[in-house]
Amino acid sequence: MEKELVINGYRKSFGKSLLYTLPVFLITFVFMSGGRPDFSDPARLVALLVTFAGMNLLYFLMHYTGRTDRYRAILFIIFALSLSFTLISNIVQMRNSMSFSQSDIVECRIPFCHLVIPMMIIPAAFTKSIIFPGSIIGGFADISSMVILWLFATIALGRGFCSWGCFYGGWDDGFSRIRKKPLLKKISDSWKWMPFALLLMVMLTAAMTLVPTYCDWICPFKAVTEFEQVTDTESAIKAGIFISLFGGLVVALPVVTRKRTQCSFLCPLGAINTLSNKITPFTVKIDNEKCTKCYKCTTVCPLFALSREDVNGGRVSVFCSKCGKCVDVCPNNAIHFGIKGVPAGSFRNFSRNLFLFVSFIFISIFSAGSIINTIQSLLNFIIS
Ligand code: SF4
Ligand code: SF4
Repeated sequence: MEKELVINGYRKSFGKSLLYTLPVFLITFVFMSGGRPDFSDPARLVALLVTFAGMNLLYFLMHYTGRTDRYRAILFIIFALSLSFTLISNIVQMRNSMSFSQSDIVECRIPFCHLVIPMMIIPAAFTKSIIFPGSIIGGFADISSMVILWLFATIALGRGFCSWGCFYGGWDDGFSRIRKKPLLKKISDSWKWMPFALLLMVMLTAAMTLVPTYCDWICPFKAVTEFEQVTDTESAIKAGIFISLFGGLVVALPVVTRKRTQCSFLCPLGAINTLSNKITPFTVKIDNEKCTKCYKCTTVCPLFALSREDVNGGRVSVFCSKCGKCVDVCPNNAIHFGIKGVPAGSFRNFSRNLFLFVSFIFISIFSAGSIINTIQSLLNFIIS
C-alpha cells in the first residue's frame, strides 16, 4: 500500500500530491514556454527547464510534506535575488551603470515598480497623468501589465501579495531566517501601524509635487536595483538614505529579530495590501478546539500579525501575509489556511489546496521570467 504522510493534519500520498501538482505543471509549462519551447538557444532552454522543474518540485513538496512556508520561502528568496540580478544586468547593459540620470527619466528608461502604485492614484485621477516615467504598454516592465497583475493578486490574496507576489519581500524574508533564534526579542508591534502613516504621507506629497516621493527619497530597494546618479548634495543624501535603510531594515534588524522589519514598518504598499485582506476570500484560521495556547505561532510570525491576544481571541489579525509559517509550526494542527465564511476546522484540505493553487500561480507568473534570465546569464557566463 502507498505510504501516506500526516503532517499539519494533512494526509497526503505521493500519488495524490502528484495529482495536485498536475494543473500547476500544465499552467507553468504553457506560460513559461508559450506551449512551444525554443530549442535554438541551449542556455535559455536549460534555464527554462531548471526553473520549470524546480518550481513544480517545490509545489509538489508543499503538498507531499504538508509544509507551506519552508518551500514558499525558497522560491520567494530566489525570486528577490534573481529580480535584482536581472534588473541590474538590464540596466547596466542599457546605460553602463546602476544609476540613472535625468535624461533616463525623460526618455522613460526607468522600469516600473509596484511600490509606486499608491502614489500614482491621486495624480492619475485628477491630472490624468502617470507620475512615474515608463511605458504604459510594451517595453521593459511596462506599467499596465504590472498594475493589472498587482490588482488581481491583491484581490485574490490580500496581504498574501507580500509573501507570494512582491519582488522585494524575499530580501528581508531571507535575512530574517539567518539566525535560528532572535537576538532581540522585544520589539514593539505598534510600529506595524507606521506604513499607514507613510502611505498617507507619500500619497499626499506625491499628489502635491507630482513626484513619487517614496521612490525618490525612501525606498531601501534602490540599493539593490537602481538609483539616481550622485551629482550633488541632494542626490548624495538620497543615496545615503537608501543604503542606510537597506542596511538597517532589510539586513540588520531582520537578522537580529527574525522579523521582516522593512515589510512591517516601511512599505506603503503593504498598508494597502493589509486593507485588501478585508476583501480577499482566503484567510488563516485558528481552531479553538485544538489550540492549547502554547503561543509557538506568535513567536514565529515574521509580520507582527499574530499576538497572544489574537490567539486568545481565536483569530489572526488583518496584518497576516498568509506565509504559512505559523501553520507549519503549530504542534496541534490548530491553525490552518481557510476560506472566509467557512468555520475553523472545516474543509481544511480543500481550503489549503485552493489557496496554494492560486497563490502559487501568482508567484510563478511573477518570478519565472527573472529566474530564467538569471540562470541563463549564469550559464552563458560559465560557458563563455
Ligand atoms: S501554535 Fe497552535 S496550539 Fe500553539 S497557540 Fe498557536 S494555534 Fe494554538
Ligand atoms: S499569522 Fe501566520 S500566516 Fe500570517 S503572517 Fe503571521 S506567520 Fe504568516
